[in-house]
Amino acid sequence: MKRALFPGSFDPITLGHYDIIKRGIHLFDEVVVAIGINADKNYMFSLKERQQFIEEAFKDEPKVKVVTYEGLTIDFCKKIDAQFILRGLRNPADFEFEKAIAHTNRKLSKIETVFLLTAARTSYISSSIVRDVIRNNGDYTVLVPESVKTK
Ligand code: ADP
Repeated sequence: MKRALFPGSFDPITLGHYDIIKRGIHLFDEVVVAIGINADKNYMFSLKERQQFIEEAFKDEPKVKVVTYEGLTIDFCKKIDAQFILRGLRNPADFEFEKAIAHTNRKLSKIETVFLLTAARTSYISSSIVRDVIRNNGDYTVLVPESVKTK
């Protein structure tokens, strides 16, 4: 079974993430969306909320699983037998950053990172911009799946 891990913070999931997951489904038998737990980060949405948003967005898609994890991404891949890491690339800055991580992961393991270029229509979206829009009472709903709700 070809299993890919799509790791991230997903604070919250955006239409950009959604697009990558949807396209990943065609490449892999299973896409595991893995929300990384980083004790040093301050999140806008709780882990439970972030997980629920993704689960709800893919409730009709049995090939998508949502989990949380701590520690090295490659260690978690080995644990759940994921042979691939899936990442989205928006721009050259993403590429430079991701390149170093992918090389490191290859040095430490046999896990391959597969990059998908973001769709042009969602390439400008980031979770941090969505959070800014939310904080300033803007219409964030055009940037995220319908499942993302603020209180
Ligand atoms: P991280 O904290 O690891 O950057 P994110 O939740 O911001 O976590 O992103 C997770 C993955 O989704 C990364 O591979 C990132 O490049 C990708 N991604 C983020 N925004 C978009 C977007 N608009 N379109 C496609 N992929 C995206």
